[in-house]
Amino acid sequence: MNDLMEYDRIHEECGVFGIYAPVGENVSKDIYYGLLALQHRGQESAGISVSDTAGPKGNIETVKEMGLVSEVFTEENLDRLRGNIGVGHVRYSTTGGSSLNNAQPIAMNYIKGSLALVHNGNIVNADRIKQEQMYRGQAHFSSSDSEVLAYEIISERVRSDSIEKAVSGAALKLKGGYAVIVMSPRKLIAMRDPFGIKPLVLGKKGAAYILASESAAIEATGGELIRDVLPGEVITITREGIQSDRALCQEKKAHCAFEYIYFARPDSVIDGISVYDARFRAGQALAKRDLCTQPADFADRIDLVAGVPDSGLVAAEGYAHVLGKPYASVFHKNSYIGRSFIKPTDQERKNAVHMKLRPLKTVVSGKRILLIDDSIVRGTTMSEIIKELKRAGAREVHVRISSPPFLHPCFYGTDVPSTHQLIASAHSSGEVCRQIGADSLAYLQIEDFDHMAGELPLCKACFDGKYPVQ
Ligand code: SF4
Repeated sequence: MNDLMEYDRIHEECGVFGIYAPVGENVSKDIYYGLLALQHRGQESAGISVSDTAGPKGNIETVKEMGLVSEVFTEENLDRLRGNIGVGHVRYSTTGGSSLNNAQPIAMNYIKGSLALVHNGNIVNADRIKQEQMYRGQAHFSSSDSEVLAYEIISERVRSDSIEKAVSGAALKLKGGYAVIVMSPRKLIAMRDPFGIKPLVLGKKGAAYILASESAAIEATGGELIRDVLPGEVITITREGIQSDRALCQEKKAHCAFEYIYFARPDSVIDGISVYDARFRAGQALAKRDLCTQPADFADRIDLVAGVPDSGLVAAEGYAHVLGKPYASVFHKNSYIGRSFIKPTDQERKNAVHMKLRPLKTVVSGKRILLIDDSIVRGTTMSEIIKELKRAGAREVHVRISSPPFLHPCFYGTDVPSTHQLIASAHSSGEVCRQIGADSLAYLQIEDFDHMAGELPLCKACFDGKYPVQ
């Protein structure tokens, strides 16, 4: 998390993937392709565990390392991972939690067998559960709540007669937003938090079943989406097929709104809503509001509509569609910079915008631009972007944000920073507009989420402070 653009972004903490294929097939390449498709959800570490359901019980092979999926896995180590059942993980962490100890899958042997676990999200009562475990004499080797979860499943398993009952038993104690996949030597089990805060989908490729954070990861393997794992549902996949335990399913749901705005890929479908469509509609809602609230000649004073790559692009298309103005690419994005391990100075952090996004001078010169981005966190990136556009000759830059102002932290596994670091928590929209050097600024309104996601109940806690799970 070195440069300014990374520093000034909200990050998802993880992506999970699991597959159960018929005996004799090898799933490691499918997991690899699934993880590549989930790379945007976490770039700090990557890992895969596989097992052979016809082989000796308890034999789990794991490879996990710090780095991108393409850096961690090679032909050689993928070749060593042989089996027809497996799980994979990509992780993003805050600086303090970035270590191989916290990388996943977590693979463990215990008195009744072995398991490997991958987890996206945050168990908000993990500290209390961890304390109980420590009083029972349990040592912990990482600072992650995923390890706490693995131990809880193991201690339930010691008392119950199947791994799926152990997972359901552990789920009763958990509070938070989570999507978890557990591999036992013969079964693949998935569970999603009762509010459905974190996404988790079920798909199929031939005779293999796939579980993943996003449908795009299933499609990356050549498979297809079947449905979402229901909020609160525990799914067990065995040789005989699929079983569903819905004991924890509840009426009240709260799917993370920011998945649609920023985290998820636009080619994913989450809880029945296409991420692309949701972003397009957010852009439309912004434009409709401008047409109602801005002076009558506002549209005439805009020459073109553009988005900040990547997650502002689709909203910009939606905005342009309503305003009847041309949509244009105003940046060339250098996608090859990747992460740098060279510790940057403050000036170098600022230069990252300069290196990553280059304005297209012939497009922007002399133009009044309506620019859309998904969010403003600290405001530093947007301020640099506007400077770059104006240096390239843009006459005016009007900024629209396809989410409401960030005012509150997230406790469900997303690194929305603490309130004092959020520019909108201490400054009015007019002040933020002046600080970033925009000619005007407006945000999506909370009510506009209804237009974006229809009837789907959303968690909007980082915008309105109403947390579904305390
Ligand atoms: S608080 Fe914000 S980022 Fe966190 S789950 Fe809710 S909507 Fe998503």
